Amino acid sequence: MQEFGENIQHAHDEKLGRHLVASIAIEPGDTILEERPLLVAPHWECHQLKCAQCLQESYVICRRCQVFPLCMDCNQHDEFECEFFTSGAGKALCKDILVKNFGICGLLKLLLLLENPRTKGDCQMLIDVPINLSDYRDGEGMWQEHEELVVRPLMESGLADVLPTQELTSDALHAHCIRIDSNSFEVTAKDGDTLKGIFVWGATLPHHCVPNTVVALDEQFNMKLYAAVPLQPGDIIYNSYTNPLMGTSQRQHQLRLSRRLECICSRCLDPTEMGTHMSSLKCKECPGFSVCEIDSNGKLGDWRCPDCRALLTAAEVHELQAAVGSALVDAMGDLQVYEALLTQYGPLLHPNHFMLLDIKQNIASILRAAALMNSMDQPCKKLLARRVELCSDLLPVCRAVVPGISKLYAIGLFEYLLALVELVELQFAESDLSKKEYVAHLRTASLVATEAMDLLRFEPENSAEGYLADRISMELERIESDLKKYGR
Ligand SMILES: [Zn+2]
Ligand SMILES: [Zn+2]
Ligand SMILES: [Zn+2]
Ligand SMILES: [Zn+2]
Repeated sequence: MQEFGENIQHAHDEKLGRHLVASIAIEPGDTILEERPLLVAPHWECHQLKCAQCLQESYVICRRCQVFPLCMDCNQHDEFECEFFTSGAGKALCKDILVKNFGICGLLKLLLLLENPRTKGDCQMLIDVPINLSDYRDGEGMWQEHEELVVRPLMESGLADVLPTQELTSDALHAHCIRIDSNSFEVTAKDGDTLKGIFVWGATLPHHCVPNTVVALDEQFNMKLYAAVPLQPGDIIYNSYTNPLMGTSQRQHQLRLSRRLECICSRCLDPTEMGTHMSSLKCKECPGFSVCEIDSNGKLGDWRCPDCRALLTAAEVHELQAAVGSALVDAMGDLQVYEALLTQYGPLLHPNHFMLLDIKQNIASILRAAALMNSMDQPCKKLLARRVELCSDLLPVCRAVVPGISKLYAIGLFEYLLALVELVELQFAESDLSKKEYVAHLRTASLVATEAMDLLRFEPENSAEGYLADRISMELERIESDLKKYGR
């Protein structure tokens, strides 16, 4: 079910539990681990039936077991699953157990994997990790959702009674739901919907906000883990479970919520966040920037200017962040509102502050969608130039927070490339650019495309990133042919 390269080995310690370390020097791009998912499940709140085999939308039910949905392309699903409801212990249960509550699908599949003697062993590593339910029971977020969408309907379905060896109490089911949530990778079905993929070894990778690996997932939900940077023997293999464009306070909040994890990685302890200043604010007293004071346990304190020592209290900063956060929600995709937010809050924050980056990404994507739909009356050069500017602002940050081979940076380069080519083509067509200037821009575009493709070269062909690489390669061909036409 999984294949280890000879370049890694298992390790175990008190703090990280089971994990993987490099056994020899590993080069960027080298494959570390290839793994089939133990389980692919729809989100709990998914109401659309999904095929039990390929997880695409489904409108028919397996004729044999009459319980699991299938799609037009699949005529069967896992033999044990099907058999369980056809002639096994689940035979007497109500057939519309899934149709009535599709939210239970992921957990039902896990319970059947645990019941199946052939797959029980594969699940064990996942199940062995203890879950402290009291950490979750009254906390924010998922408990209530699990209770309503999964645990209660499953208890009421009578399934627990036909799986007596698993001793399925409501708490045991909650623990399974938490295991599924906290170990899942986002995978994408062929129809574009996102799902939760559980990988036994993938789940053991500890978190680091600056991961040393890249996770690649193809359309069949296979995972390939490869090195992002050179690794030395003994290096721990890390993955990141947060968005690298979030600031430290946001990442820590998310890690606490989803994994009950207090991150003290090098980025979390670095007030400048790898020199990006993604959480720094403008000093009130001097032209410098205030950075957050962080203790050795990763606890965030007040903000202080290193130049003039002026203080910004944590409470003031939180208030400001909350104000921007709610303004972002209220903006609801309105371009003018986002631009106004930049004008209002830009002077208070470092230009790379994560909230400004968030606003800028919103503007860039509105401008991109507008260009795609040709909804600007005439493609306005000013807006195209604005998009180029925003995309290029994001690039140095993307480069800094994910060193080495980085999909984030590749995508950033692609967005910049599209914006730049669109702008200079129009400028050239309208004679705003001389042939020489146009050619110079095309050369830049060609370099950008080449760099982006280079970063995506280890991605599987049949993955979103693989398709992106094809797209960039087409763009590069077009640029090269224009370069030929207008002189090199
Ligand atoms: Zn199917
Ligand atoms: Zn069936
Ligand atoms: Zn961290
Ligand atoms: Zn200052």
